[in-house]
Amino acid sequence: MTQIVLLGPPGSGKGTQASGLEQRWGLVHISSGDLLRAHVKEGTHLGRRAKPYMDRGDLVPDELILDMMAERMGAPDAQRGFALDGFPRTVAQAEALEARLEAIGQKLDAVVYLHVPEEELLRRLSGRRICPSCNAIYQVDTMPPKVAGICDQCGAALIQRQDEQVEVVRNRLRVYAEQTAPLLEHYRRQGLLHEIDGTIGVENVMAELARLLGGVRQQR
Ligand code: AMP
Repeated sequence: MTQIVLLGPPGSGKGTQASGLEQRWGLVHISSGDLLRAHVKEGTHLGRRAKPYMDRGDLVPDELILDMMAERMGAPDAQRGFALDGFPRTVAQAEALEARLEAIGQKLDAVVYLHVPEEELLRRLSGRRICPSCNAIYQVDTMPPKVAGICDQCGAALIQRQDEQVEVVRNRLRVYAEQTAPLLEHYRRQGLLHEIDGTIGVENVMAELARLLGGVRQQR
């Protein structure tokens, strides 16, 4: 069982790569943002509490995130291994994750940092379209759907996320720099951090990840 974290700013390709890892490697893609958006859509108590933070591009408080993630990671399908996307996002969340894994005799295998310069992130996020039904991700310039505005996988009409307007995107990048970037040092110290250049193209990043996972599995 392989357990990895994909780390990187919004727009660095974590979601695209995590869903590739699910399709090709059988790792379950667990996205905290997708889980939260599902709660918002269903109007649950958690969704109603999280929405104002998400709309501003701020982090949702840890106490709302940790139980949600623990439940998802404890689900039967996740026992075959997972790729975490968007979690952890603070050092406190990383410590909670470590404590949880340790309590069940497990540990992370690798943390992969996708490095992408800021101007490229702004460009990508403003061109991003998502499927509200199956969460597939598209890019109007570089990864468009076969039929404009329609999801290749399930046929639903694609949407632009509310938190991908320019001011909210800028805040998300600021929040990343202040609260999530310190995780790089945290994981570097633990010897878990691997950096991949996130600008080399989806397939090349996937090939790098495959190489890395091959190594991780041999070590197990
Ligand atoms: P994402 O789709 O990962 O960019 O997440 C969208 C939004 O959900 C973020 O801007 C945060 O408001 C919230 N969010 C997602 N994951 C987390 C997390 N691990 N901790 C706190 N807030 C989160």
